[in-house]
Amino acid sequence: MVEVARELMQQAPKVSGAGDMFQLLRDGRPRTRADLAAVTGQARSTVAARIDLLMAAGLIAPAGEASSTGGRPPATFAFAPSARVVLGVDLGATHARLALTDLASTVLAQRDLPLLITDGPGPVLDQVAATGAELLAEAGRSPGELAGVGVGLPGPVEHATGKPNNPPIMPGWDDADVPAILGARFHAPVLVDNDVNIMALGEHRAAWPDVADLLFVKVATGIGAGIIADGALRRGAQGSAGDIGHVAVPGVTDIVCRCGNIGCLEAIASGLAVANALEGTTTPADVVALVRAGDVAASQAVRQAGRDIGAVLATSVSLLNPSMIVIGGILADAGEHIVAGIREVVYQRSLPLATQHLRIVTARTGARAGVLGASAMAVDQALSSEAVDRLVA
Ligand SMILES: [Zn+2]
Repeated sequence: MVEVARELMQQAPKVSGAGDMFQLLRDGRPRTRADLAAVTGQARSTVAARIDLLMAAGLIAPAGEASSTGGRPPATFAFAPSARVVLGVDLGATHARLALTDLASTVLAQRDLPLLITDGPGPVLDQVAATGAELLAEAGRSPGELAGVGVGLPGPVEHATGKPNNPPIMPGWDDADVPAILGARFHAPVLVDNDVNIMALGEHRAAWPDVADLLFVKVATGIGAGIIADGALRRGAQGSAGDIGHVAVPGVTDIVCRCGNIGCLEAIASGLAVANALEGTTTPADVVALVRAGDVAASQAVRQAGRDIGAVLATSVSLLNPSMIVIGGILADAGEHIVAGIREVVYQRSLPLATQHLRIVTARTGARAGVLGASAMAVDQALSSEAVDRLVA
């Protein structure tokens, strides 16, 4: 008996406070008090008290009655995503998309706006704060209901501080305290990450939540990757994990990258690199338009870019063994050509065990990936055990 009890205790998730118990309910499935008592191993009275706290905070709500084999059917409770809202902000070089979402990242109000990241943090974050306030009003929610803000920036971000670190296309932003500046405007916690990481998070949560090991690759003006391993976004020690744009492509010795090194993937295979190499195109969007119009030279150039990206991804596949590679960013809009090029090289250059069940596909969330991921990042913070414990205290 003692053995069995010890085993049960080891198997039971470590659940101490209301915040921990809430994590069990985040999947949205209704549960009874008895269900929660059984899973947590806590007394019914303890569970009942915690349910009351979470109900009072609005985080869970009654979800009808469970079926009963006799007597009065027990009440069930489920996560109430509309309890609070978060703001997702996806900042690009020349545009921004903001979305106000509920706690399940369902979009309640959204705005696309042109802006120039080169205007610097002052004017750009002013615009973000003003637009965020408009979205709150539009959705009929008060500023006090904002539980957090997630921001994606088009450059390297030190994850612990949320500060951009020598971002090449963002003059004036180096070391800018984005969380403090926006936190003062919104009076809510602000989390900042690079655009590729939030896209990876958004695509993973919205399109492939059950895929535990996924590599998201953005191919646009630049190239970068976001790593989902064991179900979570992995940022590395400083936040620069997945920065594959400046990995050297094997065999290229004559192309100098803007970073000063020779043969970087970004200098050879990004949307901008392809646009510069083709006749009559100046932007990645021009390349996509040509491919869609059936232009042979453009299609071949995109396919070759896919092969070059594949050469670098083959190494990533060996290191990380993802079960899925998702290609996003504007060049993914060129259709199958880029994916075909990537598949060609990755399958040829990786060991069979790594590629046996590897799927290589284009992203499903398209231009929404960034705001969805920014929202998910803010939600994860707002609904963490610690944050929920503080909220109900
Ligand atoms: Zn480079």
